Amino acid sequence: MAQAGNSELVDAFTQFFESYYDTGIKELAKRYPNKQRSLHIDWEDIYRFDPDLADDFLNHPEPLQRYAEEALRLYDLPIDVSLGQTHVRVRNLPDTESPEICELRARDMNSLVQLRGIVIESTDVKPKVVDGAFECQLCGTLSRVPQSSSDLQEPHECQGCERKGPFRLNFDQSEFIDSQKIVIEDEATTSPEPPGSIEVELEDDITNEVSNGDFVDVTGVLRLADDNSGNTFETHLEGMSIELVDYDEREHWPTIEPTTDSEGFKMDLEAFVERSRRVLQSHEYLDETSAKAKIITPFIKLLGWNIYSTDVLMEYPRGDSDITDRVDYALIENGDLKVCIEAKRPTVNLDAKTGQLKRYMRLHRCNWGLLTNGDRYIILRDEKEFELDDIIREVDCELEHLVKRESALAPLRR
Ligand SMILES: [Zn+2]
Repeated sequence: MAQAGNSELVDAFTQFFESYYDTGIKELAKRYPNKQRSLHIDWEDIYRFDPDLADDFLNHPEPLQRYAEEALRLYDLPIDVSLGQTHVRVRNLPDTESPEICELRARDMNSLVQLRGIVIESTDVKPKVVDGAFECQLCGTLSRVPQSSSDLQEPHECQGCERKGPFRLNFDQSEFIDSQKIVIEDEATTSPEPPGSIEVELEDDITNEVSNGDFVDVTGVLRLADDNSGNTFETHLEGMSIELVDYDEREHWPTIEPTTDSEGFKMDLEAFVERSRRVLQSHEYLDETSAKAKIITPFIKLLGWNIYSTDVLMEYPRGDSDITDRVDYALIENGDLKVCIEAKRPTVNLDAKTGQLKRYMRLHRCNWGLLTNGDRYIILRDEKEFELDDIIREVDCELEHLVKRESALAPLRR
């Protein structure tokens, strides 16, 4: 830590607050304690004020947060209010302190990091004791013990009779704080490692702010978990700040891995529809190659097909140069052609193209066909009659309505 005494650090934060957060603190004082109990600080502001102080905050977050909160308690306010239980919560750390969860290492322990991920689990908000009042069952004396770990810490001995209890926690005299645990997971990593996940502890006014599936930025202090087996430990994050990430800010689009259960398939289908809708909206013009890459190939993956295997062939059949009728995708199951897929660019009117797909289906003796431009999905079924008109339109729906027609997609799935 920089060579500075405790009071110098409190003074530094006082000056910082005067220069950068005076308005915010006066606003907080009006809203404290019921409507607001935290002062949210942008780390970049500390850096602009004093780079050394900002670095200290990254490397020694716990004492620095205490000094900042002490400076806030002593802050000169025009109204008579004490900000005694206010939290100083720092967010917006530099990229160097924002590893992917799977990249967290021992060197990150006890320092401030910012993690971005999807909330995959969250507990109910529960009261957690922060200051335990223990009543001696022998003499009735109350002994107070501040609580820091997840296990309840009892007094070593009674402050009255000096015996070792037994003690009972007195709820009325103890202090509690709202507490919640969530688990966040890397969304999609750029590192070769599998996505990591970590438990995050949230307290007081930052509990109950997010739900499962939310995409969040969390800053916090990386800690070893109390319970260990052998000489390795689990890690968790003591959450200091949590924010929802705007959908547009997401670096990665939702990844879709095929699932076999119907509930999972439906959720994946919803994600596919949402993502493809955004693809269509964000591109002024999509040619056929782009529509295949950005919408139709992902749709085939979603249906459970491994596009890297020989079960999925493109420009089928290959080889014979006399053949001019090739399907864009052939989906092959156990050696048999199961589905022919003809892809078009989104502006193409599909009604004029069903004849072409019907010919492919007859030519290759295939019972199922999909004609799509990414925006509209026509599924054809051959009734094995001799006339082309007996190939019927099983499904004809817009992208937006695919979820409602989920069960009708079953014949196309691997
Ligand atoms: Zn006692």
